[in-house]
Amino acid sequence: MDTAEELAICNHCNKDVVKTNLPMHEAHCQRFLCLCPDCDEPVPKDQLEEHRQEQHTPVKCKKCNMKMEKCKLPDHETNECTERLQSCEYCQLALPLSNLKEHMVACGSRTERCQECNQYVTLKDQLQHAQICTSEDFSFITKSINGPVKPLPASTLQEDELDDNDSRDQHVSQAADSKDEDTILSLSDLQKKKRNEKMGWRDEDQISTCPHCHLALPLNTLQWHEDKCRIVEGLKRMSEAVDVRK
Ligand SMILES: [Zn+2]
Ligand SMILES: [Zn+2]
Ligand SMILES: [Zn+2]
Ligand SMILES: [Zn+2]
Ligand SMILES: [Zn+2]
Ligand SMILES: [Zn+2]
Repeated sequence: MDTAEELAICNHCNKDVVKTNLPMHEAHCQRFLCLCPDCDEPVPKDQLEEHRQEQHTPVKCKKCNMKMEKCKLPDHETNECTERLQSCEYCQLALPLSNLKEHMVACGSRTERCQECNQYVTLKDQLQHAQICTSEDFSFITKSINGPVKPLPASTLQEDELDDNDSRDQHVSQAADSKDEDTILSLSDLQKKKRNEKMGWRDEDQISTCPHCHLALPLNTLQWHEDKCRIVEGLKRMSEAVDVRK
């Protein structure tokens, strides 16, 4: 093949063509090609309808319901869709992008014990912690970052006082009994909160934990998460079972 031969561009299909062949080529293109009115690309005339159906039919993204031409869908699904799945960098669970930010706030607030200093560190602070953990002034630095320990709210102190009085005075009236029940209820709530704080969970009523992976999540995303998680955990167990048999 003579690579030195001069090339020219066909006006119909925009392809490089050997110049001496151009007249014949252009005649052929003029006869058999046309420009697609939707994308201005040269398409064989007899395949235009097929091309327009394949490429330009309006479709809806199944995840976000956005309308677009069919040829744009694959790129949309992998790079643009706001509902495309993306992994949480803390727990690796795949979530729709639109839920990920909210999830990662909750997920990053979980704590794990640092192997070096035995302190509980939230997942979102682990990178930062790894840098200061080796420092000699470590305990001073974490205290100044996390701020002073919050004092118990005033209502909590009152409940503690009530409890002390009741336990000292065994001869309580009927009225005091019902009052006592209220105190017990709120005390058990308080204990739950204290326990949650000890476990490093955030002291917010709307945070609850997934029974499958024990991940703390806001209630409004938890139901959604649990459904996914049950599937994920099921798959994990299946693959573990396969591993055991090996
Ligand atoms: Zn051509
Ligand atoms: Zn087209
Ligand atoms: Zn979409
Ligand atoms: Zn997560
Ligand atoms: Zn540490
Ligand atoms: Zn879960």
